[in-house]
Amino acid sequence: MAKIHELSSVLADQIAAGEVVERPASVVKELVENALDAHSTRVDVLVQEAGVRSIRVIDDGDGIAADDVLTAFKRHATSKITSREDLFRVHSLGFRGEALPSIASVADVTLVTSTGTSGTSIHYRGGKLVHQAPAPLRQGTDITVTDLFYNTPARLKYLKSPQTELANIVDVVNRLALSYPNVAIRLVHNSKELLRTAGRGDLQRVIAGIYGVKNARKMVAIKGQTDDFQLTGYVALPELTRASRQYISILINGRAIKNQQLTKAVIAGYGSKLMVGRYPIAVIALTMDPLMVDVNVHPTKQEVRLSKEPVLAKLISATITARLADENLIPSAMANL
Ligand code: ADP
Ligand code: MG
Repeated sequence: MAKIHELSSVLADQIAAGEVVERPASVVKELVENALDAHSTRVDVLVQEAGVRSIRVIDDGDGIAADDVLTAFKRHATSKITSREDLFRVHSLGFRGEALPSIASVADVTLVTSTGTSGTSIHYRGGKLVHQAPAPLRQGTDITVTDLFYNTPARLKYLKSPQTELANIVDVVNRLALSYPNVAIRLVHNSKELLRTAGRGDLQRVIAGIYGVKNARKMVAIKGQTDDFQLTGYVALPELTRASRQYISILINGRAIKNQQLTKAVIAGYGSKLMVGRYPIAVIALTMDPLMVDVNVHPTKQEVRLSKEPVLAKLISATITARLADENLIPSAMANL
């Protein structure tokens, strides 16, 4: 008798969820990324008990058509890429078609969505469809995730304290807000508002909303470019430092990424201006041809492979060094905040 069989789709989704849905913050990241990919202008993130009790993301984006809703919850089902060429030129935050089925396999998910011409509500629990019905035509998508990891006890046990889980959520939403200053993003935890951006495209105001107006005033705009890369953003004056590197955000084509070399390049740009063990606050927004970025390295897409990384690192450090040298001559004029 054959010993090898294909896993059921629910089990396969749970295995994928192991990579994509590590903690409540991963759910928040995937849902907000979906909202942003759907051209939303407003995204509200409502979280209860650090996301363990519930995570709700409401957007005013494209919505999902009634006859697409079931497919959206299938693994490797996506509207964002179709061909191999697309994979090398990813313009969206998502493309793997894993988030919805993964989340639905380890939680209770209710999604209400409308494209303006059709409206649907759908309910999944533990990867099983519970209910589907027509819904009102309110443009956008409203998705609620409760009972996260109810059927994967090991994952539930592995979660850290509510403070730590919430800090992770805040970090994820902050970085998405920095990446999308054109979108009004709001984060509310247990009915307390933790972040609200205006969505008017002003990065400095988003920075002020996250790090405080006083700190934002101690940051200066930077700009630089090479043939392949455009760099904009804000960096702190050397007097404004933190004890950790996590206040350095690197955004590539609107995606917050983790990259040691580029983070080091930011620090290197300060030369000897930083004390040992102190790091700047910085937001480095880079744009480049998507062909130069391989985002298909890890399921969470936070690590990417970059062409010409050394050139990019040099651009970052040289731009910061030059800007801070200017700053010694001309006192900072950031009175517009
Ligand atoms: P991916 O984002 O990689 O395509 P997901 O599983 O996250 O995969 O989502 C599957 C599909 O469902 C998306 O490609 C998109 O078409 C649709 N979708 C998910 N969330 C939203 C949303 N908030 N608004 C509009 N469409 C959505
Ligand atoms: Mg997605």
